[in-house]
Amino acid sequence: MGFEPTDEMLGQARQLPAGLCDHCLGRRFARIGESTNEERGAAVRRAMEGLGEARQPAPVCPICENIFKELDAMAAASVGKIGQMEYSSFLVGSREEREVFELEEKLGYPEHLKNEVNRELGKRLEALTGKTVDFERPDLTVLVDTRLGGLELQVAPLYIYGRYRKLERGIPQTRWPCRACRGRGCKRCGGTGKMYQTSVEELVAGPLMKAAGGSGHALHGMGREDIDARMLGNGRPFVVELERPLRRSLDLEVLEAEINALAAGRVEVEGLRPSGLDEVRALKASRASKTYLAQVVFDLPVPEEKLKLLEKTFTGLQVQQRTPERVSHRRADLDRTRRVLEFRVEAPDSFRIVAEAGLYIKELIHGDGGRTRPSVSEALGVGCRVLALDVVETGDWGGTGDGKGVERLPGEDKADPARQPEE
Ligand SMILES: [Zn+2]
Ligand SMILES: [Zn+2]
Repeated sequence: MGFEPTDEMLGQARQLPAGLCDHCLGRRFARIGESTNEERGAAVRRAMEGLGEARQPAPVCPICENIFKELDAMAAASVGKIGQMEYSSFLVGSREEREVFELEEKLGYPEHLKNEVNRELGKRLEALTGKTVDFERPDLTVLVDTRLGGLELQVAPLYIYGRYRKLERGIPQTRWPCRACRGRGCKRCGGTGKMYQTSVEELVAGPLMKAAGGSGHALHGMGREDIDARMLGNGRPFVVELERPLRRSLDLEVLEAEINALAAGRVEVEGLRPSGLDEVRALKASRASKTYLAQVVFDLPVPEEKLKLLEKTFTGLQVQQRTPERVSHRRADLDRTRRVLEFRVEAPDSFRIVAEAGLYIKELIHGDGGRTRPSVSEALGVGCRVLALDVVETGDWGGTGDGKGVERLPGEDKADPARQPEE
């Protein structure tokens, strides 16, 4: 059914400002009949002319300032901005002036200018590019400023899931900017801008960045191990985020082999596959347990039967832990309770510990000057500390992975060493 203006509609049209373009005249009657707003506006104009009421469009439409005449050029400009970037879906979004919005509300418009601009530009882009609009998770978002006609391109990051093992001690999980220069490069860091030469993040993201052509990267891990701890066993789940990728369809099998060859002996990854922001959130929220192997040393010899008692004492025990001294300069000072799920004395100097996520293992052993209670030192009455720590298994976290990237939400933090607990 086309659009036929009724007498009532003509009465409503008489209340509108003079000089509207067909789009803005017709938008007052949006969603009535199967027409475009432009066709509705033209029909209203013809009907009024038939009644001897000429309503000519002004040279500049008082609502849209003729933005609809610029849409073809904007579509072409968008395609130019997108350039060679690979994407499968897009969305058009608009910023609209508050006065326009309020005027349309006052005049009883059932649809706002920005919605029509989004739809009309979206149609043109679909025709030009052959890609489709995705309202949920577009690879690209074209942002239009309806008043200035400016265009901005937002590019959804590319997310890749995998598990990593860290075979060498002394490598941080994420790139750690130099404390003295905050990354600019100084004497202390030898101009690298970093506290450590490399990181799991850099070793993993390097080949991915080269393949995707991104502008930056972040690594989101399911927790993190100490810099001097190894991460062994089944590895730690992570998602690498690549910002503003030029290419999205990567051969992850080939890249996995490339990462493992370049990082041989230090880091290895497995099971790379596409991921998304939902999975990053799930990973961050995961409370999956971890299994540790701690090599320890005592201040005084401890008889073996006394050591064996630790298994009974600590298995299933709730531990009160105040933020450790060693991380207190960058983490909030708070008390928390974490459970030791299993404690096994594997050898006189080696404990196997299964713990809830977030329990600090070194402090569980040495007690951190009473900040962690109870501790192994306290239970034995003998000073005890960790010589070497390995994470040997991460518990099942029930991850999904939907293969699609979405935009970063405002205020969401990047992988930041200062904001993540070590274990
Ligand atoms: Zn207009
Ligand atoms: Zn520096």
